[in-house]
Amino acid sequence: MTVPILNRRDLDFMLHEWLDIGALFSRPDYADHSRETIDAMLDLATRIATDKYLPHFKHSDRTEPTLDEDGVHVLPAVRDAVRATAEAGLFSAGFPAAQGGMDLPATAFWASMGILQAANVSTSGFMMLTSGNARLIATFGTEAQIAAFAAPQIAGEWCGTMCLSEPQAGSSLADIVTRAEPDGEDEFGPRYRLRGNKMWISGGDHDATPNIVHLVLAKVPGPDGRPVPGTRGISLFIVPKFLPDNRGRNDVVVAGLNHKMGFRGIPNCLLNLGEGRFTPDGRAGAVGYRVGEIGQGLPIMFQMMNEARIGVGLGAAMLAYRGYRLARQYATERTQGRTAATKSRVDTPPVPIIAHADVKRMLLAQKAYAEGALALVLYAGRLVDESRSAPDGADRHNAEALLGLLTPVVKTWPSEYGLAANDLAIQVHGGYGYTRDFDVEQLYRDNRLNPIHEGTTGIQGIDLLGRKILRERAATLAHFRGVIETTAAEAESFAEISAFAAPLRDAWARIDAVIAHFLALNDDAAALAQATPFLSAFGHAVVAWIWLDQAKAAAQASSDAPEPDQPFYAGKIRACRYFFEAELPKVTTWLAFVAQLSDVASAMPIDQF
Ligand SMILES: Cc1cc2nc3c(=O)[nH]c(=O)nc-3n(C[C@H](O)[C@H](O)[C@H](O)COP(=O)(O)OP(=O)(O)OC[C@H]3O[C@@H](n4cnc5c(N)ncnc54)[C@H](O)[C@@H]3O)c2cc1C
Repeated sequence: MTVPILNRRDLDFMLHEWLDIGALFSRPDYADHSRETIDAMLDLATRIATDKYLPHFKHSDRTEPTLDEDGVHVLPAVRDAVRATAEAGLFSAGFPAAQGGMDLPATAFWASMGILQAANVSTSGFMMLTSGNARLIATFGTEAQIAAFAAPQIAGEWCGTMCLSEPQAGSSLADIVTRAEPDGEDEFGPRYRLRGNKMWISGGDHDATPNIVHLVLAKVPGPDGRPVPGTRGISLFIVPKFLPDNRGRNDVVVAGLNHKMGFRGIPNCLLNLGEGRFTPDGRAGAVGYRVGEIGQGLPIMFQMMNEARIGVGLGAAMLAYRGYRLARQYATERTQGRTAATKSRVDTPPVPIIAHADVKRMLLAQKAYAEGALALVLYAGRLVDESRSAPDGADRHNAEALLGLLTPVVKTWPSEYGLAANDLAIQVHGGYGYTRDFDVEQLYRDNRLNPIHEGTTGIQGIDLLGRKILRERAATLAHFRGVIETTAAEAESFAEISAFAAPLRDAWARIDAVIAHFLALNDDAAALAQATPFLSAFGHAVVAWIWLDQAKAAAQASSDAPEPDQPFYAGKIRACRYFFEAELPKVTTWLAFVAQLSDVASAMPIDQF
């Protein structure tokens, strides 16, 4: 039996009953939208995901992109899917109408992207990168740059990339060595010639679209002719594969493909810039147009990086979600053994494995991880909408600050626990789950990328504790604590969930205490050595709040909901209970370790490893 890629009832609950995106429709930015237009967009995304993305899920895993002298070739089915996505207007949907888009709220845009990711995460990567690339150019580019390089991407005619990493510089972009030498100016702005290598570039070359717009970080030489050290030396350039005005092929070529564990449908490339394979305007050097000022490359690029971090969290959540749906279905069809109550009666037929307590435990954990992760990412989408459209300036500011605080969690928590959910989905399938005949092993391999790219979990922990909390002396966190307290107080009026208010408050009080300790200590190196376990604790406490807030919406809605809806709401409340009983207590253990400021690992001499 075919399993739908996700539970639309749940998505509708999150968008309409929990996040109340209907409140956005009265604002000028989203005035053209209504429940009907959002539903139509989600229906469209579901149709494309089912007809164009899902059918080559396994094929594109088994048949990787190929490289020959003409460049990289993807499967025709991948090309078709990208074209169908563009023709349906999904590339442009999240952009303002003035830029050729549909003014779709970010919450709904992410939901529709998530549907594609659930069906085939690697093919959805083309849209995710293109959307972020075009939005960056639309925000920071000149009119000519927007018309030449963003507009074709918004229309889905071309795709985009982000070229940050180099073979020797991944987590530490300060150490990139790609150089950009000034080369005059034309209608697209200050022009440069770039030389260097970019590693790990997703969609770095392909034949899914006729042109590719690379956004490349590189260093412009300072007055002494040498690159300025550190991130201050980084600038950002638009480097199209084919130059505008029919000026031909740019000097950016694919030097090799990386052969990945998962995510195989989208090519991942080593790109060489300026090696002289092509000679635009008669000479070697990749032509690049600077976006923004010299030295502003990284702060500008952060717009795309932050969007990609949310996209990574969403992809991880959707992989978990699909794995959960598949495991749930399998557990109702597979029979094995008897329950504890009937195990002595071998004459009775075997039961579906969903009758076994341990299988139920694994399914409930997946539900708590997958639905918790999706809810977290959609909440981030709602913050994007608030930051763009809230009538009050202070609300816009608060939403933007809170989004900044939560971005490391939105990226990391789904990546870590989505993977844990996929691990459990394999376990529910038993030996069959370990074979390639079932989808769950591929979902796991695809999801294994997510804790690595767009800033590893370790780097996100440092970002959360260092930049987002200690550097600003927990100012945004203080606002977030108010939001959490509101949920806890409201939850107390619902008998089914009132018991969870106190443990939520307790977990956050422990986090406050650790932060206060770190601030008083004033030793960032000692604090940051604890960044990853701190992120684990913080992330779990955030998701506990997300679960209680969802459970509150479910408790509220269930009071006058019809009978057939009751199991859905009861399932939400039970998943919340699971999170509070089985997961939230882990916060105490993580924080106890963090608070010790233990140097057991950090001070370990290398010769003891
Ligand atoms: C499939 C795939 C797709 C990708 N797509 C793109 C893309 O489109 N564009 C792009 O620019 N890049 C892309 N990347 C690159 C990705 O962002 C990097 O792999 C990632 O940032 C890590 O860099 P690295 O691989 O060099 O690992 P390293 O930076 O060498 O890190 C190795 C380990 O050391 C840890 N570490 C490093 N520095 C620190 C530190 N200061 N403190 C604590 N721990 C640290 C890391 O957490 C990690 O565990 C992609 C990578 C992959 C695998």
